[in-house]
Amino acid sequence: MVNFEKELKIKKLKVTPQRVTILKEIAEYGHASIDDIYERIKKTYPSISLATIYKNVTILCQFNVLSEIKVPGYKQKYELNREKHVHIVCDQCGKLEDIYIDFSALEQDCQKNSGYNIHRFSAIFMGICPECEKVNSRESNNHFITANNHKQWCHN
Ligand SMILES: [Zn+2]
Ligand SMILES: [Zn+2]
Repeated sequence: MVNFEKELKIKKLKVTPQRVTILKEIAEYGHASIDDIYERIKKTYPSISLATIYKNVTILCQFNVLSEIKVPGYKQKYELNREKHVHIVCDQCGKLEDIYIDFSALEQDCQKNSGYNIHRFSAIFMGICPECEKVNSRESNNHFITANNHKQWCHN
């Protein structure tokens, strides 16, 4: 378990119980939106407001304790800064996952072609997750069976 008090102190940020709780919740869930954090924290701090959470999360992002994940068409989510990774989102159920791949070649090419000194990276892939894919193929099979049954029934 990461010592969040220590991490806040290193970044010269004031250690408050709310901040530590926000970080703990995000650490536990991997990725969380402001609403997700609010729903969870409200159990411990019934008087906490959405605005307080928003304010704290913004500061934690500014100091690189948290990073923001912006997925087009979805609410922003937050995660603790860790190893570089890409995100993959299921367009059907909205699930967001971390994928660890080696993209050093991509980064080098990008740096070489643009001349930029790249210091941040964000990549999102979108598609249909294996679980949704399974449900979809089951459903299309069912439709097929229903259509077939209907045909037989009509012929009798
Ligand atoms: Zn899915
Ligand atoms: Zn992530």
